[in-house]
Amino acid sequence: MKCESCGKPAVVNKYCKTCFIKYFEKEFKKGLGNLKGKSLCVAVSGGKDSLTTLYLTKKFYPKNKILALLIDEGIKGYRPHTIKSLKKYAKEWDIPYKIVKFEKPLDDIKGSRACSVCGVLRRYYLNKHARGFDVLITGHNLDDEAQATLMNVFMRYASRFKRMTMPLVTHKLFIKRIKPLRHLSEREVMAYFILKGFDTPMDECPYARSSFRDVVRTALNEFECKHPGSKLNIIKAYDSLNISNSTGHLSSCIYCNEPSSNEVCQACKILRN
Ligand code: SF4
Ligand code: ZN
Repeated sequence: MKCESCGKPAVVNKYCKTCFIKYFEKEFKKGLGNLKGKSLCVAVSGGKDSLTTLYLTKKFYPKNKILALLIDEGIKGYRPHTIKSLKKYAKEWDIPYKIVKFEKPLDDIKGSRACSVCGVLRRYYLNKHARGFDVLITGHNLDDEAQATLMNVFMRYASRFKRMTMPLVTHKLFIKRIKPLRHLSEREVMAYFILKGFDTPMDECPYARSSFRDVVRTALNEFECKHPGSKLNIIKAYDSLNISNSTGHLSSCIYCNEPSSNEVCQACKILRN
């Protein structure tokens, strides 16, 4: 197959290496939007998605203040490997980083729903430690977003569904979030990462296979195989709903003072148990 753009042999998505990289970076830049003069906090795990996000954010906004923020959940035999990658690339790309550990390691508090606990705490720490920056940039790709959309529908998580692209309630303590990989698939991110010669451990989190997300991921991949374009259609359908945030009231958690719709925030409920 020949590259759609220049006629050289194609390697990914009907593109040769050079044209694929151009296409990918153009899509990413579109997803970032105009961030001139803004201070940028990039959420990193040290995996391929977040490292790609960090690299391209720096590439497109080299003069902005950028911080790589890693939340260490405390998962033995997994997170330490990707922390090494973050340290290596942060040095190479000249980007300061900060690592915040869960107050109690996930391995000690997970109960039966590791991913739900992990998700609540990770969002909590990210919002808290990115405060002071104009924008929080995350590495969620098209697959992550399509899975999350379906999961929220299947589980009838109405409020999570509504706040997928922005906080449901406007609050000065909620930082604006941007997901520049939202329209790029996991496969495309992987291809870009490899074509650029980057490297990081691709191990899977030990809790991933027992999660509901994994069930949705498998089903969605099968569906995408039979009906290409389904993942993108899910995102487009969500976006067409044009959900806007409200200015409803949020109070503060009595323990940590972070914004919360209840007297005690979700994170404190987990951490104080
Ligand atoms: Fe956390 Fe679950 Fe992801 Fe592991 S798979 S890092 S437990 S959300
Ligand atoms: Zn709290």
